[in-house]
Amino acid sequence: MIGLKPLKIWFVCGSQHLYGPETLEQVAAHAGEIAAGLGREGKFPLEIVNRPIVTTPDQAADMCIAANADPECAGIILWMHTFSPAKMWIRGLSQLQKPFLHLHTQYDRELPWATIDMDYMNLNQSAHGDREAGFMHTRLRLGRKVVVGHWTDPDVHARIDAWIRAVRAWADWQGARFCRFGDNMRQVAVTEGDKVSAEMAFGFSVNGYGIGDLVAKMNAISDADVEALAAEYETLYAVEPELAKGGARHDRLLYNARQELGMRAFLEEGGFKGFTTTFEDLHGLTQLPGLAPQRLMADGYGFAGEGDWKTSALLRAVKVMGHGMSGATSFMEDYTYHMAPGAEQVLGAHMLEICPTIASDKPAVEIHPLGIGGKEDPVRLVFNSRTGDALNVTLVDLGNRFRLLVNEVEAVSHPDLPNLPVARAVWKCKPDFKTACTAWILAGGAHHTAYSYDVTTEMLEDFATIAGIELAVINDDTTLPTFKQDLRNNEVYYHFARGIRA
Ligand code: MN
Repeated sequence: MIGLKPLKIWFVCGSQHLYGPETLEQVAAHAGEIAAGLGREGKFPLEIVNRPIVTTPDQAADMCIAANADPECAGIILWMHTFSPAKMWIRGLSQLQKPFLHLHTQYDRELPWATIDMDYMNLNQSAHGDREAGFMHTRLRLGRKVVVGHWTDPDVHARIDAWIRAVRAWADWQGARFCRFGDNMRQVAVTEGDKVSAEMAFGFSVNGYGIGDLVAKMNAISDADVEALAAEYETLYAVEPELAKGGARHDRLLYNARQELGMRAFLEEGGFKGFTTTFEDLHGLTQLPGLAPQRLMADGYGFAGEGDWKTSALLRAVKVMGHGMSGATSFMEDYTYHMAPGAEQVLGAHMLEICPTIASDKPAVEIHPLGIGGKEDPVRLVFNSRTGDALNVTLVDLGNRFRLLVNEVEAVSHPDLPNLPVARAVWKCKPDFKTACTAWILAGGAHHTAYSYDVTTEMLEDFATIAGIELAVINDDTTLPTFKQDLRNNEVYYHFARGIRA
């Protein structure tokens, strides 16, 4: 995946001096053992690094300031082995800008019933030490994840893994740059939004660039490089004969290879992690990019059509969250419905740009007319998508704040679609079609989403907590009366929680 930086998670154990140096040595040794054990058994996407134990207010503040200043520190796991009076954490945690997870665990899994004495009780106090810590985290109104269980428990590892994936995506957003080739599709509302508020809330920047600058990059690509990439397409995909070398329209395949290489060069030079295009601004391009964004998405670039920068940035984040899993994550649009009563399905697709990471079969490279835009026929990858559990997630700009909205779905097989010239996925919504669509529309959800078979609602919940934004979830537990009331409650809560800064 493009643009990933090496990041680490700090493991920090809190204690105090009340119990003497011998106990603190044991605390430090146990913390080191737990950090190493988590790293070994958790198989997390980021390395866990054990840090010195924290026993004083100055150490707590120094640790938090050091975490803020260390670009490799993505987040912190906190655990209180003994009691650690929490007023000593106020100054540090008030300044902490990195996400943290509170691990409520204990060194020993089982009590030594026959030998337990007060020395043991003094050392193994997380049962109340972590409650003291949790009070302060709540008193400071700090968003965090609390994970409970023994540190060898696979369920604990799964909870931490989800959080680390969210942390990684959050770190990836900080300072990330997204490039817009052209503006939003004219008159469309949901793809608009406040880029200043987004940068304040999420840490990434979005800026526009002239199509002419992209065209200059494309023209600078050598014919030899273009031909080599076109030849690679023929090894990777089922290229239709008229586009293949020797075919009547091979020049169009070459043009798409040039488009990809030009876009790639532009994005690499600018250090971008994602981009948008729009069919309404193609000046100097002979066709809307199709194959190029599909392949760039597969390399980890965020993308969305029609200038939808929020979905492009979100897709990048979701791809980072799922990195190292199956990789199946794409830009998506709810396109059309199968409305058979009780068996409703959504056919998701786009004009061209669905990521081949979700393909269930070898993609075909085809050329077909595009009904809008008035340009030459675009080349695109066409395929069916995997079946199984998946989700759609969208980022909504409500004017005064952002909302993340998730719908869990089940991707299903479907009849052949011989006349449909675009990649597609078909899914059933949870809990059911009518509830899901009603809730999605009431929540103001966009028609553009990041669609993933890897990323879970838990990861997105952790991500929303880190970002300090609302998460609305539509899944098997959703009922409309509760969902509606949650939206109303959240209007009030997030308005006050964010105050006038949004
Ligand atoms: Mn669209």
